[in-house]
Amino acid sequence: MSRRDELAERLSAVEERVVAACREAGRDRAEVTVIAVTKTYPASDVELLGELGVRDVAENREQEAGAKAAECARLGLCWHFVGQLQTNKASAVARWADVVHSVDRERLVPALQRGAEQAGRVLDCLLQVALDEDAAAGAVAARGGAAPQEVERLAEAVDGSASLRLRGVMAVAPLGADARAAFDRLAAVSERLRVGRPGASVISAGMSGDLEAAVLAGATHLRVGSAILGKRPPLR
Ligand SMILES: *Cc1c(COP(=O)(O)O)cnc(C)c1O
Repeated sequence: MSRRDELAERLSAVEERVVAACREAGRDRAEVTVIAVTKTYPASDVELLGELGVRDVAENREQEAGAKAAECARLGLCWHFVGQLQTNKASAVARWADVVHSVDRERLVPALQRGAEQAGRVLDCLLQVALDEDAAAGAVAARGGAAPQEVERLAEAVDGSASLRLRGVMAVAPLGADARAAFDRLAAVSERLRVGRPGASVISAGMSGDLEAAVLAGATHLRVGSAILGKRPPLR
């Protein structure tokens, strides 16, 4: 089978899952955007996905992503950054990313603002929320993210940045946790964030293994990697 056929087949299997989950949740399929997470895969795969109708792609490493986004610029895709963000990489990310999902501490905000301003762009930002049970108690989350009680302060920092636009929240379900219960906690954080901020309506949740739970909990964006592109080598 050609790589193109393989990707087409996996894309339609994911589409079937999303359609079934929307039906179960009583939601309109058009409310949910599938983002293909292309990390570790070559620009040629991004091109094939673009030909197959994918409009949104995500990466998690600044260097790899910047090069790929440049190579694929003519496709006009929407580029998402979903990796843990270091302050010293923030302004580089702001040059190519359309949406950053991983804003999880205040120090990142001026760095992203500076990068976006220098690039003459407006950057959409999602606040990454830690959903571990002990994040609420202030423990450092293993997979990144701000504790739910820190979200409002972080939101105010983004609100005050002219080149950043607050669009919503993002989370990764904690390992071994009940994904549905975790995503319900994210939905509650989203509801509070949207008070006075109707534009912050994005809920980025759900990956290859738990996208159904995310759709049931109200996710608007799913980040799907291995179910579309295949299993990645470990340790990435
Ligand atoms: C890699 C990654 C995904 C995609 O994970 P899969 O299990 O391959 O679908 C989603 N979100 C983030 C933040 C990731 O790093």
